[in-house]
Amino acid sequence: MTSLLIVEDDELLRDGLSAQLAQAGHSVTLAADGELAQSLLEAHRFDGVILDLGLPKVSGMEVLRWLRRRFPALPVLILTARDGVEDRVQGLNAGADDYLTKPFNMAELQARLGAMLRRARLPAFGGSLELAASATQRLRVDATQPQAWLDDEPMELTHREWALLSLLVSHAGQVVSREDVLGVWQSEPGDGAVSNALEVYVHRLRRKLADSGLTIRNVRGLGYLLETTAP
Ligand code: CA
Repeated sequence: MTSLLIVEDDELLRDGLSAQLAQAGHSVTLAADGELAQSLLEAHRFDGVILDLGLPKVSGMEVLRWLRRRFPALPVLILTARDGVEDRVQGLNAGADDYLTKPFNMAELQARLGAMLRRARLPAFGGSLELAASATQRLRVDATQPQAWLDDEPMELTHREWALLSLLVSHAGQVVSREDVLGVWQSEPGDGAVSNALEVYVHRLRRKLADSGLTIRNVRGLGYLLETTAP
């Protein structure tokens, strides 16, 4: 069963979503404000989040940015106002996986949610079909807890290594910039020590992935790319 967190302050909409998604077989948890959403995310494991952007206490955008640092690979669908083009762009830039504008059609929400969760469930949680090839089915990364498994064996990872791996895996097939990694590590781009340490972490992680069929490529001047090693 898929465990979803719905964050929406409009009671009618929240209850409607909850009823429909529960009927569709999801396990649903509700939050009416951003603060509650954060504490629920800290305490429970979810497979996906539906996040309204206009929320009391802590705004949806703040929750989204926070969530992306804490749980880089957790799928998030944002709900925005019809005329909120800027919100949508901001939301996608802040790491939302998809969005719907209000009012939305429930069937469309279910379809988009389904697609988002399927993408997230691809081996290694990656969005790249190429990476879904046999070699990578051996790697699983928990999107919310600092855990990963290679051939069902738990990997020994530090929190930073997990955050880095999780980010690479959730952007499989795409280049992840140094700034993205530092953002996930909640470190200032100007922090030279951490920035210099990044190479070391990449090197260590690459070694831990040595027999996985995956490697981390340095893309000069751009960042890092998780890719399959040549067969
Ligand atoms: Ca709202």
